[in-house]
Amino acid sequence: MNIESLPKYYSPKSPKLNDSTPATGGDVLTTTDVMAAQGMVQAEAPLGFNLFLSKVGVQSPDKAVSGLVDEAMKISSQCRHIEDLEEEKKCVVIGIIARYAYADYSRSAASVRECDCCNGEGFIDAEVFTNKVQFPDGKPPAWAKCTKGVLPSYWEEWRSVREKARVLCPACKGKKILSNACRCHGRGRVVDEAMTREMRGVPVFKECDKCSGRGYSRLTFSTVKEALNAVWPELKRKIAYESVRPFYERIVSVCFEAESSAGSALRKVTR
Ligand SMILES: [Zn+2]
Ligand SMILES: [Zn+2]
Repeated sequence: MNIESLPKYYSPKSPKLNDSTPATGGDVLTTTDVMAAQGMVQAEAPLGFNLFLSKVGVQSPDKAVSGLVDEAMKISSQCRHIEDLEEEKKCVVIGIIARYAYADYSRSAASVRECDCCNGEGFIDAEVFTNKVQFPDGKPPAWAKCTKGVLPSYWEEWRSVREKARVLCPACKGKKILSNACRCHGRGRVVDEAMTREMRGVPVFKECDKCSGRGYSRLTFSTVKEALNAVWPELKRKIAYESVRPFYERIVSVCFEAESSAGSALRKVTR
């Protein structure tokens, strides 16, 4: 049984389900079988199992994140700048890294995130310029309209006025959420135009270079750095990108590796 088919066993409406993966021989696994298998996977690969269940929304991410913190603590020596922090600060920093690594891992093509431009409000405060007319010497007299060479506009003074206005958020167009799906629509693959031409129009696909086949956009490290700077103001840009970023990336990979070992543990016990 594949880990991807696990969530449906959490649906209360399905006491007995046929797992569609051919690797299991197409046999029917009862919920009891699955629960027993889960117990074994939980014991063998707890981190990956918790990560996966949180990612699909079956359980809250607390357990997964705290498991990730433990894992990150174990390998914190890989980043000298984190390792050199005093113990308490190090814990806070690693906690932040683990939460962001989890957030990055759990993004998928189907997921949406709160719009970061308007903080999920749909509108932003923007400065707009409006032209306002003033009449410093009073309104033009009635005769100005009919006297040759004298125009009512001589009494007008136009000024560009800067005003604060509530405008529709340009990033989410007022929808309050942004999709994490990449421009490849989460497929991870795009048409290779050059190869397709060479093949006389038979579509050839290649890995999407924007998301490297992941299908969704990554959380940017600048977001992580900003959060870190709140508790670690001395963290300079250069060190953040050259030393902390690789460590953060390592923790993101830990998530995927852990999920994949939970997956193989599950396949093993349900064989
Ligand atoms: Zn927005
Ligand atoms: Zn893509």
